[in-house]
Amino acid sequence: MSDLSELYQEVILDHNRRPRNWGALADATRISKGHNPLCGDRLTLYLKLDGDRIAGVSFEGSGCAISKASASLMTDAIKTQSVDDAMVLFHKFQDMVTTPIDEPVDEDAVGKLAVLAGVREFPARVKCASLAWHTLKAALEGADEPAKTE
Ligand code: ZN
Repeated sequence: MSDLSELYQEVILDHNRRPRNWGALADATRISKGHNPLCGDRLTLYLKLDGDRIAGVSFEGSGCAISKASASLMTDAIKTQSVDDAMVLFHKFQDMVTTPIDEPVDEDAVGKLAVLAGVREFPARVKCASLAWHTLKAALEGADEPAKTE
């Protein structure tokens, strides 16, 4: 294992142990639920929208370290962003985790989220990492159906 992937591993474990933006958001304007049946990850995402800006975001749920760390990193990345920018980041994240393992990922495009690029080695884990993002997309689109990773 390279030094870089060890560092990335540390960041993921840290976000799993101490998830950022954890808990319900009392004044949320959108609440969306996500479920990854493959692993059993469940997530509830709370969003407070102020016009086209994300004024608040938090999450809670239960699941594996990857799903929790990904949700923690995502909420950190999108808070205070515009809805459009958050959707752009959703697509960049999806691009990263679906890039073939033998091809480099564009780390500049995703910033801190690049720590999750390693999930590409474990196809089942891609769904764990994507769950928060699919749940976010559902919340931004105002969907009533729970978000699924399938
Ligand atoms: Zn999982």
